[in-house]
Amino acid sequence: MAADTRPVAVTSSPTAGLTDSYGRVIHDLRVSITDRCNYKCVYCRTGEFGAQYPELAIDEYLRLIGLFVDLGITKVRLTGGEPLLRRSLLNLIQELAGLQTLSGAPLDLALTTNGHLLEGLASPLKAAGLNRVTVSMDAVDAAVFERITRVPGSSAAVLKGIRAARSAGLTPLKINCVLLRGFNDDQIEAFAHFAREEDVVVRYIEFMPLEEGRLWTPEIVVPLREIVERIGRVLPLVELPPRDPGETARRYTFFDGVGEIGIIAPVSQPFCGACSRVRLTSDGKIRTCLFSQVEHDLYGRMRAGASDVELRDYIFRTVQGKEARHHIGEPGFLKPTRSMVHIGG
Ligand code: SAM
Repeated sequence: MAADTRPVAVTSSPTAGLTDSYGRVIHDLRVSITDRCNYKCVYCRTGEFGAQYPELAIDEYLRLIGLFVDLGITKVRLTGGEPLLRRSLLNLIQELAGLQTLSGAPLDLALTTNGHLLEGLASPLKAAGLNRVTVSMDAVDAAVFERITRVPGSSAAVLKGIRAARSAGLTPLKINCVLLRGFNDDQIEAFAHFAREEDVVVRYIEFMPLEEGRLWTPEIVVPLREIVERIGRVLPLVELPPRDPGETARRYTFFDGVGEIGIIAPVSQPFCGACSRVRLTSDGKIRTCLFSQVEHDLYGRMRAGASDVELRDYIFRTVQGKEARHHIGEPGFLKPTRSMVHIGG
């Protein structure tokens, strides 16, 4: 991947929030704080836990995130790799909880985790100022789950983590389930029951070509239409209206109004036109799309001594270049060289 090494051109500092060249308002920043993970999910990793990229110091993430917030970011999601592996995570959250958005409100602070270490960390995370967590869980059945994570005991650990997060008030609690035909598509119905029984919002996600290896094919993707049909056969669904235009999930409740599921369908029903996201990798590169072919070296500029004004200007101009959309499934589609675990999902 070509890193963008153009020199910073200093222009006047932007003041009116972050809007890209297609008029999309960018208010959601995803920050990877490590690309290490303690799971080796078969659809994500080739079999290693290890990192490929360096991590920044906590105060460096804080400075960079603060610049995005100055420009109009209102929601920060910490991710990885596995963010709960990161030392000083609680300090980072405490500091982020003290930041204010342009309108003077506190940041909306969320975290995505595999949940393995959540049982012990849920209450401290809440106390530090985290609002919500999303836990990734790709099967209800313990044996299927552990075949995916390749970690014995992972199913029980994640279940305990989910329950601890709910008790700690890290709610609404979302569970992300990436579906792959032939791996875990037999879990679709079980997850619908799980959503109702555990009082969590289960979000089924279409598998994207972002794995370390070469597993993705159009046939392995379980599309939204099929998920809706299959759940509807056992528990009739009622579609819910979107809460905001940038919402990525199509939301549904059940026939009796008890429980909620969501379906995120980037492959069969892309939502790029409403994308409000930008990403910062664990080594301080800006990615304007999961499928970007170019990264923008914000950290390199900071290390070279750029001022806050210069860095904000660089972020602003980088966001202007955000891609219109991804090209999954089109002829000539190129996978990014960084896979999901190293970008930050
Ligand atoms: N370790 C944390 C976790 O497990 O949630 C955060 C990082 S993980 C990369 C973030 C999310 O990306 C997980 O829900 C994971 O299932 C999802 N993911 C990984 N590879 C994916 C792919 N190729 N397509 C869609 N989602 C993917």
